[in-house]
Amino acid sequence: MKTTVENIAGKRTEHYIGGEWVAPHSARYLDSYDPATGKVWYQAADGDEKDIDAAVKAAQAALVDPAWRRITQTERGVLMRRLAELIAKNAEQIGRLETRDNGKLLKEMRAQAQAMPDSYQYFAGMADKIEGSVVPVNKLDILNFTTREPIGVVGIIVPWNSPLMLLTSTLAPSLAIGNTVVVKPSEHTSASALALAELIEEAGFPAGVYNVVTGYGHTAGDALTKHRGVAKIAFTGGTVTGRKVAMNAASHLAQSTLELGGKSPHVVFADADPDRAATGVVSGIFAAAGQTCIAGSRCFVHEDIHDEIVDRLIDRAKKITIGDPEAEETELGPLALKAQLEKVAQYVGFGSADGAAIAFGGNPPPRPDLAGGWYFEPTIFTDVKNDMRIARDEIFGPVLAIMKFRSEDELMHLANDTDYGLAAGIWTKDIDRALRFAREVDAGTVWINTYRSASYMSPSGGFKNSGYGKLGGFEAIRTLSRLKSVVVDYSGKTHDPFVMRLK
Ligand code: NAD
Repeated sequence: MKTTVENIAGKRTEHYIGGEWVAPHSARYLDSYDPATGKVWYQAADGDEKDIDAAVKAAQAALVDPAWRRITQTERGVLMRRLAELIAKNAEQIGRLETRDNGKLLKEMRAQAQAMPDSYQYFAGMADKIEGSVVPVNKLDILNFTTREPIGVVGIIVPWNSPLMLLTSTLAPSLAIGNTVVVKPSEHTSASALALAELIEEAGFPAGVYNVVTGYGHTAGDALTKHRGVAKIAFTGGTVTGRKVAMNAASHLAQSTLELGGKSPHVVFADADPDRAATGVVSGIFAAAGQTCIAGSRCFVHEDIHDEIVDRLIDRAKKITIGDPEAEETELGPLALKAQLEKVAQYVGFGSADGAAIAFGGNPPPRPDLAGGWYFEPTIFTDVKNDMRIARDEIFGPVLAIMKFRSEDELMHLANDTDYGLAAGIWTKDIDRALRFAREVDAGTVWINTYRSASYMSPSGGFKNSGYGKLGGFEAIRTLSRLKSVVVDYSGKTHDPFVMRLK
């Protein structure tokens, strides 16, 4: 793999279109920053409408190219297994690229890269098991069967927080079904999607199946969602952007899946194991410095255990090791963007102004060795009300809003009183209560006595302002394919041409 930290540092990267490395049409490049130092570390091609058009055309050509269109599902699976092996071989480099780009812990980005091959293996196995069905229609001499076929060119737009893992959740099922793709990674994390292009080429995929145009959302991203050659937009990002994406896609009747933001309720009942529950709450909000769509950022604690859980959370937060994301002992790295750091600080101000109490943190860590990096302390608010801004808006940082509740009814009302519906978690030993919560809560994923446990096999996707459409498991194949119904008349008869055959 040539796209490595050492090779691209101080250099420029290009688009990958139709199997070629292509300079941006505008000849412009954008700066990519290292969040641990706040300094530019390489420049990525700044794509525009013309680059997107070239990439979509390459993907359209690949879609009908016999080298892709006419190979069997089994052969597609073989290519995907080869890709899985190449990703496994290069996982360390991929993890390092992502950490340098988004500042998340190397141990986390490495673990994501190491887990990725499983996802390609899984969907490779699915490639030749995507069956249609025979429909028992109301006519004895008609055979009606369905087939699932590629939907076409899929435009994939991903954010910076887990770039390749989120790309994989659309790419792996897309390759299994036979789609071609144009990827627009986040302008903050262009490198890993480009590295993947090299591996896809090495695995033997035909040119044009996988294309990458790097650049900004309002230019390259916008052009991708508006391009009439794109059949489906798979978007992962913020809710405000998601609305624009859906409107652009609808303007030419492209389908869209929207994996958007969240403000997920994380509930602790008095009968929960306090150690497991507090650790779960910590993982829900301080892992990845809170920059995860599924962050359990609204924590509801039963009044009988409230003070004990708050004490445990403060105790654990005090011990969190903040520092260089590449160091193995680090637990909390920098935020990925300067703007993100500013947003976190602004919301901490809102929390205090609205009357919540800071039980821990609330500032950038006062450490000279971290100066220049975009670090913020793990921050815990108590005395929060559900109508405060820190309880309503997605902050996307290490800020926890704790609320006390008395009864299950009150809890359900508070938990569902949010614009979002991505995930929810509950800690309790009472299985009846846990299942009642799972039934009643407005969330696409519900965790019981665990949090932030994910699998490419499991359908994921949110409700309400957290988006629509599911990825993961066979749902991803459904989302990324189209269903065709074929009707065969074997009666041998000639029917009245002016009457539709309804019987
Ligand atoms: P963002 O919406 O700003 O950007 C996401 C992507 O969209 C980027 O590639 C960006 O360049 C592109 N984009 C921006 N404007 C666009 C436009 N007008 N048209 C087309 N594309 C455009 O989000 P972000 O700040 O990169 O990521 C953080 C957000 O992503 C959070 O809200 C988080 O919850 C969400 N997220 C959701 C999931 C999920 O699975 N539900 C996973 C990760 C992150």
